[in-house]
Amino acid sequence: MEKNCIFCKIANKEIPAGIIYSDEEIIAFNDINPQAPVHIIIIPRKHIEKTSDITDADTKLVGKLVFAAQRLAKDKKISDSGYRLVFNCNKDAGQAVFHIHLHLLGGRRLSWPPG
Ligand code: AMP
Ligand code: ZN
Repeated sequence: MEKNCIFCKIANKEIPAGIIYSDEEIIAFNDINPQAPVHIIIIPRKHIEKTSDITDADTKLVGKLVFAAQRLAKDKKISDSGYRLVFNCNKDAGQAVFHIHLHLLGGRRLSWPPG
């Protein structure tokens, strides 16, 4: 738990969010500023600032984020049409919240390459 981290606060229910999945290790909630019809944020409860800080001890946890995204995509019926999973890291990627989070985006055609 990092004192000034908004995603730690969501995980601890100190601030509200549209939580759609939660277990002892991870939590998923709707993005407050959705960029697609489905835009879900999936985070570990453990505070890790950015993907460049992931260690060997975290690899299973990070895999859980991807597996949760796969299941949520099926739940949201975007698995066959397609979706995108994104981790932004640091300035050039536009990372705004420094607690690692996986974006699940889908429900419309997404352009590539990203802007
Ligand atoms: P990033 O640029 O990868 O750091 O993205 C941070 C994401 O978190 C953005 O898509 C924001 O809309 C989203 N976000 C920020 N604050 C909240 C919040 N309180 N509840 C839900 N999503 C949030
Ligand atoms: Zn945090």
